[in-house]
Amino acid sequence: MPKSIDSTCIQHPGFQAVGRCKQCGKPFCSQCEVHGPIGIFCSTPCKNANEVFVQRAAQLDSMSKKTSIIFKLISSVKSLIALIILIIMLGVIAHYFEVDVPVVSDMLGGQIPTEPTE
Ligand SMILES: [Zn+2]
Ligand SMILES: [Zn+2]
Repeated sequence: MPKSIDSTCIQHPGFQAVGRCKQCGKPFCSQCEVHGPIGIFCSTPCKNANEVFVQRAAQLDSMSKKTSIIFKLISSVKSLIALIILIIMLGVIAHYFEVDVPVVSDMLGGQIPTEPTE
């Protein structure tokens, strides 16, 4: 007798179960087993349901990947806006510095020729 789980098939009570359905978890016999791409199932509906589930999971996965790309785009746009604001702020600061720098130069060196007052 082949090694099997300690149960009988849900479809055939007299048959020893050989495994549990990957979809519903119910025991099945070798007569019932349906081989799917990612496991063995008790019936074709379970295999189909699992395939649909796997496809949905894959879709959700790709959706979440798309969403993360959108999030990356949004965050990059946000950082772009932040960069623009930073540039504007730097421009304002630079403007103030343009006003201030000659005064600072006057104060420090007095090298800049001053207009004759008389
Ligand atoms: Zn099943
Ligand atoms: Zn069976």
